[in-house]
Amino acid sequence: MDFREMIARRAALELKDGEVVNLGFGMPMAVANFIPEDIEVILQSENGCLVFGPTPKLGEQDADTANSGSMPITLKQGASLFDIFTSFGIIRGGHVDTAILGALEVDQNGVTVKRFVVARRLSEVDKVISLAKMKTHTFMGATGATKNLFGFIVGMQKAQFHLRMQARHEFAAMLIDLANCVKPVLSIVDGVMGMEGNGPRNGSPIQAGILLAGENCFAVDIVMAEVMGFNPEDVPLTDLALKQGLTPPLAGIDVVGSAKDLRLNFVEPRSLKSLEDRVPKWIAELGRNHLTASPKISTGCIGCGRCAAHCPPQAMTVSGGTVHINYDKCIRCYCCQELCPENAVTLRVGHLLKLAQYFW
Ligand code: SF4
Ligand code: SF4
Repeated sequence: MDFREMIARRAALELKDGEVVNLGFGMPMAVANFIPEDIEVILQSENGCLVFGPTPKLGEQDADTANSGSMPITLKQGASLFDIFTSFGIIRGGHVDTAILGALEVDQNGVTVKRFVVARRLSEVDKVISLAKMKTHTFMGATGATKNLFGFIVGMQKAQFHLRMQARHEFAAMLIDLANCVKPVLSIVDGVMGMEGNGPRNGSPIQAGILLAGENCFAVDIVMAEVMGFNPEDVPLTDLALKQGLTPPLAGIDVVGSAKDLRLNFVEPRSLKSLEDRVPKWIAELGRNHLTASPKISTGCIGCGRCAAHCPPQAMTVSGGTVHINYDKCIRCYCCQELCPENAVTLRVGHLLKLAQYFW
C-alpha cells in the first residue's frame, strides 16, 4: 500500500454516517474508494455531482461524470449532475458537512506540484508550441509563454490552484512545474499589439510591434519582461525561473533580430510590486488590506454574479444585484477582474503599498 492510499484510508475513517462530504483535488479524491462499509455518506464533486462512489473499473468510465480533479467517478443510486454554479451554491449555502482538502508538498528539487490533470488534447499531440500575447497581469505582473500553458488546466481546477497557491510566488512555482511537465518545444510571444496597465481584463492596448520566439519559455518571458520595461525580478515567474537556474539572465540569453535592443515603457499593473512578497507571511496575512491592491466593484456592475460564482475562496456574494466582497476572505487572485464581462472590477491600492510604490 503506498502512502497516498494510507492517508486516504485514514481520512475516510473521520467521516460520519449521513454526512455530505466534499472531496478536494489531489489525494482527497482517493477517499471515495475507502468509505467504511458501515456508514453512508453523500459525496459531492465541485465539478457538479452529488452522490457518487468509487473510481470506476477500466472501460466503464464516463467522461461526463468527474471528481474535482476531472477523473472519472461512479454514480450511485439517487445521484444528480448539475453545473458548477449549482455546485458552488451547495457549498456556499452551507449544505456540506465536511470538506477534505489537499495540501502542498514540496520535494527536494523545489517541485510543488508533481501531478497535473490536463486537457486530453495534450496526450494527442507530438509537440506543444505556446503562442501567447505580451501583456500585463494584475496577479502575476506580466504574462507570456509560460503562463499561457495554464490553459491546459481544465474546469474548476483553475480556481483550486488559486486557492492552494494564494501567494504570487507559490502560483508562479506551480506554473513553472506545469511548464516543466508540458515542455513546449517553441514559445512565441505576440507583442505586435500588447497590453499594458491592469491586464488582462482592464488593460489598454499598446502597439509594441515585436514578435518574440525561442525554445526556452522562461528565457522568452525574461526578454519579454525587459522589452516591456519591467525588471524580471519584479515579475514572480521570471524571478523564480532565474533563481531556479531555468534560464540565464538577459545578459546570457542569445537575443537576435532587428528589435533585440527594443525597450518600451509599458504601464505597470497596480500590483506589480506587491509588498506581500517582501514581508513574512504572517505580516502579509495580517496586513493584506494595506499591503496589496484589493478588488473593488465599480458602477458598471450589472449584478450578473459571474465573479461570485468563480471566486475561489467564495469571498463574494451578490444580493439585490449588488456585489459584496469579504476582504478577510479575499486572497487577491483577481479572477473576478479577469472574468467580469462589464470591466466593473477595478483595483484599490492599499495605503502602505501606495506609500512604498512612491519610493520604488
Ligand atoms: S462579474 Fe462584473 S458585472 Fe457581474 S456581478 Fe461581478 S462585478 Fe458585477
Ligand atoms: S474577490 Fe476577487 S480577488 Fe478576491 S478572492 Fe475573490 S476572485 Fe479573487
